[in-house]
Amino acid sequence: MKKIFVSGISGFIGTHITIEGIKRGYQITGTTRNQQKEDEVKRTIAKVLGEESLNFLKVVHCDLNSPDNWQEAMKGCDAILHVASPFPLGIPKQEDDVIMPARNGVKHVMDAALANNISRVVQTSSIAAIIYGHEKGKINFDERDFTNLTSGNLVSAYAKSKTLAEQDMWNFAKENPTLKITVMNPGFVLGPILNKEIGTSADVIVKMMKGEFPGTPKMGFPIIDVRDVAKAHFNALENEVSIGQRYAIVNESLWMKEVALAVLEACPEYKNKLKPRELPNWLVKIASLFDKTIRMVKDELGLLYDVNNEKMKKDLNITPIPSKEAIKATAKSLIELNLV
Ligand code: NDP
Repeated sequence: MKKIFVSGISGFIGTHITIEGIKRGYQITGTTRNQQKEDEVKRTIAKVLGEESLNFLKVVHCDLNSPDNWQEAMKGCDAILHVASPFPLGIPKQEDDVIMPARNGVKHVMDAALANNISRVVQTSSIAAIIYGHEKGKINFDERDFTNLTSGNLVSAYAKSKTLAEQDMWNFAKENPTLKITVMNPGFVLGPILNKEIGTSADVIVKMMKGEFPGTPKMGFPIIDVRDVAKAHFNALENEVSIGQRYAIVNESLWMKEVALAVLEACPEYKNKLKPRELPNWLVKIASLFDKTIRMVKDELGLLYDVNNEKMKKDLNITPIPSKEAIKATAKSLIELNLV
């Protein structure tokens, strides 16, 4: 494999994936929707890898909601990393604003893959397609768990979009036995920010560092460094054992309070803004009556989700960067880029 098609190269994860791919000697054809983001991603890659690295990058404009350009853009590529999907900061007006691009994207990418006889595909899903809609209090998960959208539990539009888009991908694989699919299910992705395209996960750290949170809710997620996410995509692509498999791409889980304390440890000068103190659950529940975003997380209060990463370590040969290091790298890079 020489030429890799990557959807969503301008995003937080997509940019790191593009850098990892070029470092490994691949030619990357990557998508974004507009010229401004194309310019930004090229500037970033030239800054990290040098101007000549741009000879290994071709950028094309494709929208997940439209079939236009995908087939032409993939011509000559050997494999696909389908990373692009909407990851909104807040709650969308309509659930379909998030769900439809995610699902349409799988259809357009896979139709174009089949038309170009490309069989090897790695899709970026999420632990959001693993951990929701289960019996109350369940906190231990692995790749056998699928978010249950029929349980009647509150599941966010984003988690629905990731679950349905991943199911669509597995259905494509069933209907087209020549396809060789692997799915990545990353946790809460942090690590170095490279430009002003911060992404939704690191925005939590931005808000903490700007003093926008009065404290931290008692909840927690498995964290993973974006550099490990990028490596995992290519290690999966390069290892046939991953075909037909999904992988939780995670490291240790931390409470939000521990996340704030790690930021504080890395950047003590932010001590007047950062408020690591844990808010009582009753207070967050009252706030959820007035705020839709808080309402989405109220059922997660008191839960520290844990997702097993043994399969990732064994098959993909990833020894993950400690979660606290990922958090500290986010905080320091935000300061270096003057974004907080
Ligand atoms: P970003 O918001 O930083 O990037 C999203 C990317 O998706 C952008 O490149 C954007 O491209 C593209 N995209 C969004 N909507 C469309 C659309 N309608 N048409 C074409 N492209 C579109 O997110 P992340 O980098 O954080 O996330 C990347 C992937 O990883 C997503 O699939 C996300 O669900 C998944 N993920 C992220 C996690 C995290 O914590 N960050 C955790 C687990 C999974 P454009 O340049 O056109 O704007």
